Amino acid sequence: MTRGFYVGRFQPYHKGHHNVIDEISDSLNELVIGIGSADKSHTRRNPFTAGERYVMISRAVEELDITTHIVPIEDIDRNAIWVSHVQSLCPPFDIAISNNPLVIQLFQDTDIEVREGPIFDRSRYQGTRIRELMIQQEKWEHLVPDPTVEAIHEVGGVTRLRQVVESDDFNGQRE
Ligand code: NAD
Repeated sequence: MTRGFYVGRFQPYHKGHHNVIDEISDSLNELVIGIGSADKSHTRRNPFTAGERYVMISRAVEELDITTHIVPIEDIDRNAIWVSHVQSLCPPFDIAISNNPLVIQLFQDTDIEVREGPIFDRSRYQGTRIRELMIQQEKWEHLVPDPTVEAIHEVGGVTRLRQVVESDDFNGQRE
């Protein structure tokens, strides 16, 4: 039985993330999906709460043929102990999959195997770009799974993001 670990901020969960999970699920029995930066929300870079991201992901992965465990993970100040922090919160896992250089480096310093995942059209499927399209009132819905679009609309996510940006611009830019 092989259980994998895949972490992201998922701001928002998009088709790039979804395709990675679909593809890696062939070689895994179960997958732990870590919602990183779970303590962050209501900023331009992290507009959605951990709970909102939980709904976006859990509804989307229902169609995939893999058992998933979704675990919110708050950031901590010390990178050196982040992997232990992750392990203290998640079901045990055998392998981590990531393309984030810091995440790869931190796992390489431990006994847990880390593998790079496939990349899907990064120029289109990229959280920063999708958030910018939302802010500019352009079409973004085709870039995220349908259940995620629904989850974002349910919480008024696009209006929230635009308000956050307006207030950031008013107060001077913050993260
Ligand atoms: P993200 O949502 O940007 O990406 C998640 C994963 O999906 C990454 O591996 C990324 O490379 C991949 N991805 C993105 N677009 C893709 C595409 N089109 N095709 C294929 N793969 C794609 O999230 P992230 O910022 O990488 O998440 C890492 C999380 O780990 C963050 O929340 C970060 O704060 C956390 N972290 C925390 C600490 C700490 O607290 N000290 C340390 C390390 C990492």
